[in-house]
Amino acid sequence: MPSLTTRTRPIEIAGRLIGGEDFMLIAGPCAVETREQTLAAADAVARAGASLFRGGAYKPRTSPHAFQGLGQEGLGLLAEAKAQTGLPIVTECADVRDLDSVLEVADVVQIGARNMQNYALLSEIGASGRPALLKRGFSSTLDDLLSAADYLLAAGNEQVILCERGIRTFETAYRFTLDLTAIPVLQERTHLPVIVDPSHAAGRRELVLPLSLAAAAAGADGIIVEVHPEPAQALCDGPQQLRADEFDAYVERLAQVAALGGKRLAAPELVPLAA
Ligand code: PEP
Ligand code: MN
Repeated sequence: MPSLTTRTRPIEIAGRLIGGEDFMLIAGPCAVETREQTLAAADAVARAGASLFRGGAYKPRTSPHAFQGLGQEGLGLLAEAKAQTGLPIVTECADVRDLDSVLEVADVVQIGARNMQNYALLSEIGASGRPALLKRGFSSTLDDLLSAADYLLAAGNEQVILCERGIRTFETAYRFTLDLTAIPVLQERTHLPVIVDPSHAAGRRELVLPLSLAAAAAGADGIIVEVHPEPAQALCDGPQQLRADEFDAYVERLAQVAALGGKRLAAPELVPLAA
């Protein structure tokens, strides 16, 4: 069988590796909503063996009337989650004016699909030197994505993770179409790690496990997935968020398929858990 080994150059984020044989699992709620919700989600994903905790304090929403995130207060809650679990933080910077605050807590700065071609933002995040997670715009080609990544690299930032999160097609039966072909093609064309976001592609939680397993089988270097202690109460993307109490079982299945491709999830024993 041909090997799935790629020339991906591994990146280290606060002691956690992505690339090569290391599969990175990033998990957490769509948005930081309350202290209780954030700490419960962080605890659940840490216990299940996630490597990093995700959560949006700034939410770029399609409608201006939708929940926009807690902003600065949300960043404070992420800092608490990090102190509680030891998990490094991935959070989005949607506006260059917020970058300094985001850098106070983010171990990885997320650039959302809607901002993939916000070149001023890319250049500033690149110049910050902080690892960046660049999501593919939902109407962007792989060339567009790689050019956007070049803005980060050209500003001197080598620590860039690419993320396929579904694109717009004529299909309307699910939120977006997950472009799995992007995984091996990007890995052919760049040394940057490539991860997949099954949550935003799926739009509903029943599809998240099969899409995650497919991504792992296709050689993705990691997954970023939404997990919430009470998805029915979520202020954002409730239907697609995995339930925190089901997350252990999800990780177990994902680790099995990643192992088939020669990759391992970061060891949970790395995580210093609160008693
Ligand atoms: C997210 O991950 O929180 C998000 C908003 O995703 P995207 O930018 O891919 O829509
Ligand atoms: Mn979301």
